[in-house]
Amino acid sequence: MRSEESGGVAGEDLTEITSLTELQQAVNACEGCPLRQSRTNTVFGVGNPRSDLVFIGEAPGFNEDQKGEPFVGAAGRLLDELLISILGLARKDIYIANVLKCRPPGNRDPLPEEIAHCRRFLDKQIELIEPRVICSLGNHATRVILDENINISRIHGKPLQKDGHWIFPTYHPAAALYAGAIRQLLADDFKTLGELLSEGAAPQAAVGGTEQMGLF
Ligand code: URA
Repeated sequence: MRSEESGGVAGEDLTEITSLTELQQAVNACEGCPLRQSRTNTVFGVGNPRSDLVFIGEAPGFNEDQKGEPFVGAAGRLLDELLISILGLARKDIYIANVLKCRPPGNRDPLPEEIAHCRRFLDKQIELIEPRVICSLGNHATRVILDENINISRIHGKPLQKDGHWIFPTYHPAAALYAGAIRQLLADDFKTLGELLSEGAAPQAAVGGTEQMGLF
């Protein structure tokens, strides 16, 4: 029985959801945290739902909140440029989503309680898409994906395996917009990501915890 039919709050119970369309409806109906009051649109995710590669950002900014689509501002343009120039991929070839589906006011960092409430949507998105590689962009997304309080400058560009996925942490494109050195590191990481994609190695299924691999 769906949660609405069983008298639950719409969007609360995700167990019986079997498609991204249904999941997006649950996100649109979500009233679970105060961000529902300030959002213009929810920002679910875009791209190829059967892609091997999913990018995870932090949260929608102003432009994304207006348009209801992730990475449509300056950081998104840099992401598009890296995708096409280094990986030869367009936005429609991969899938992009954020940890938070609603914009934090003033683009502040996501609060722990917002992440705690919203991450079940991301977890379900990943469960439905089943990507081989998850590229986490920046500290916040990487900490959520790995469940560890990492620093991106220490682990970027090195693939790890977790829960049957390759996790590829790299810098957030916004951090590279005005910092040439980070832009170069991000571009170098994209080259390594390209090698991981073409190398085609499957991550070991259901690995407990994370394990840094010596492939690169
Ligand atoms: N930054 C993010 O982390 N996500 C977006 O969608 C836009 C900017």
